[in-house]
This record gives sequence, structure tokens and C-alpha cells, in this order.
Amino acid sequence: MTSTSVRVERADGAVKPIVCQPWCREGDGHQDALFASDQHCWSEDRVIALTMNESIDGGPATWRDTSDAIAYAMVFLDRAPGESTSVCVGYADRFAIKFTPTEACLLAAALLAMAHVAEQ
Ligand SMILES: [Zn+2]
Repeated sequence: MTSTSVRVERADGAVKPIVCQPWCREGDGHQDALFASDQHCWSEDRVIALTMNESIDGGPATWRDTSDAIAYAMVFLDRAPGESTSVCVGYADRFAIKFTPTEACLLAAALLAMAHVAEQ
């Protein structure tokens, strides 16, 4: 098996580093990004296994030590260049929904309220 590397030349030279957010998991200014629009600050993910959903590969969702096919939700912060920080809720690296911090608080309160009702 051979590997191929692709070198992408930037017309304007290297992107200038940005000032990362204190929670950015990279924290290096993202100067390796190809374009300034790629210079997102991302937080670490908080991952929640979703045992009531099908696994990512379509089978039953269970915790298995050797599988990464378990359905999961993840919560993380994203700050795109020129935008405000958003709280994101993702599903298994397939999609994410962005919330403003206020919207995230409303969602969190609704989840807690519904969870408390469901537990009764
Ligand atoms: Zn950053």
C-alpha cells in the first residue's frame, strides 16, 4: 500500500495566528489552517453514551469496550472566526446543532425539567 501526500499552496502565504479562546483545545492560534475561515476554536468534547438509540452501525446500542460504534451525543464549544461562541450538541460526529449560550441554558433547563418528570 502506498500513501500519497498532497501539498496545498496558499496564494496569500500562511494564515496569521489568531488569539485562541481560553478553552480552545489547541491553543496555538491555528496557524496550520489553510484558510482564515478554518481557524475555529474548539473545546474538548463532553460525551454521553446514548443507550436508547441504535448504535452508529445500526445494531443495538450497548457499551462495549472494543467498539466505537456506540451512539453518543457530545457537547462542545465552537467559535468560528468573526462569530460569537456557540454551544454545540452533536450526534456521533454526524451533525451538530449550534446554540447561543442563552439558548443552551434554556435547553438545559428543559432537559432537566423533563428528566425530573420522567423519573417520577
Ligand atoms: Zn483556538
